[in-house]
Amino acid sequence: MEQVIIIGAGPCGLSAAAELKEAGLDPLVIEKGSIVHSIYRYPTYLTFHSTPELLEIGGIPFVTPNEKPTRLEGLNYYRMVAERKKLRIRTYEEVTAIHRTDQGFRLSLTDRLGRESCCEAQHVVIATGYFDHPNELNIPGEELAKVSHYYTEAHPYAGLKIVIVGGNNSAMDAALELVRVGAEVTIVYRGAELSPYIKAWTRPVIESMMEKKRIRMLFESELKEIREDAVRIAVDGQEIWIDNDFVLALTGFKPNREPLVQAGVTVNEQTGAPLYDPETMRTNVPGLYIAGVVAAGNRANDIFIETGRHHGRLIARDLTSH
Ligand SMILES: Cc1cc2nc3c(=O)[nH]c(=O)nc-3n(C[C@H](O)[C@H](O)[C@H](O)COP(=O)(O)OP(=O)(O)OC[C@H]3O[C@@H](n4cnc5c(N)ncnc54)[C@H](O)[C@@H]3O)c2cc1C
Repeated sequence: MEQVIIIGAGPCGLSAAAELKEAGLDPLVIEKGSIVHSIYRYPTYLTFHSTPELLEIGGIPFVTPNEKPTRLEGLNYYRMVAERKKLRIRTYEEVTAIHRTDQGFRLSLTDRLGRESCCEAQHVVIATGYFDHPNELNIPGEELAKVSHYYTEAHPYAGLKIVIVGGNNSAMDAALELVRVGAEVTIVYRGAELSPYIKAWTRPVIESMMEKKRIRMLFESELKEIREDAVRIAVDGQEIWIDNDFVLALTGFKPNREPLVQAGVTVNEQTGAPLYDPETMRTNVPGLYIAGVVAAGNRANDIFIETGRHHGRLIARDLTSH
């Protein structure tokens, strides 16, 4: 039986593992993809909006030549932390169920070859993030192959008609890259003006692109239907059809509550947040902790690496105080 199993090797799961190790425990991390799989799936050429020291975990310096690290530097850094701290990580194994037992928990696992197994632990830390669960549009045509909730890079969209849904940084960054490869970009955004959360250095470029009509920005608009060759948009009190090749629905993510609920964690219906003690990250299920963005409610962006990386220290302190 393991003392502690951490589910998820994102920055917050790894931070928890490093803190627990520092406190004298030897947690096992189980990850269904690669280490920091969410960052691996970020847009290829992304630059973090955080400065490197705010992304550091396990007390290991994150040194980069530029003010903000790139995705690639982030991947290198977190991999290096896992190596230096000699963290025990089993990648490409998914936790499919969490059962409570008299001694703690039994986890059901499936590896990348589809083989099933079980693993027992006295304590479990759920750090499963949110990246697998995009906020869906729930409109006809969303299931078409031309629609994606993830943007990686612009090249495949060169010269094509792209609709981006969303108005935050992911949408703006994608729009700017797409314009550079000659795509015809329309942004469908429900806000009345540019979001205040857009990065300070992105905003003027977007404004200039809008002014020059290189990006068509539809404020207070909503995508209503997607077809193979066109989309229907509600804007200015009327509905318009525009020709379209691909739709990028960059509408953010929400943590999957199912594993938490299945394990007995109470979730606040109104805020969408699981019940936990912010001093210890303990949930209402004895022995079960949460770390990282999975602790957020409906406003998932309230927790991010900068803040969620501290959860591990609270868990380590709580576990070693008993
Ligand atoms: C484009 C983009 C840019 C961002 N830039 C920044 C930034 O500059 N600064 C910042 O602080 N934040 C940033 N964020 C937010 C940040 O990425 C998240 O807050 C962060 O990844 C949360 O870390 P986490 O460890 O909680 O979850 P994740 O990083 O999502 O990690 C969760 C891990 O759990 C694994 N997992 C899930 N379910 C299971 C399962 N059942 N079994 C096993 N493993 C499982 C996943 O594969 C994943 O690796 C950005 C997000 C995006 C999308």
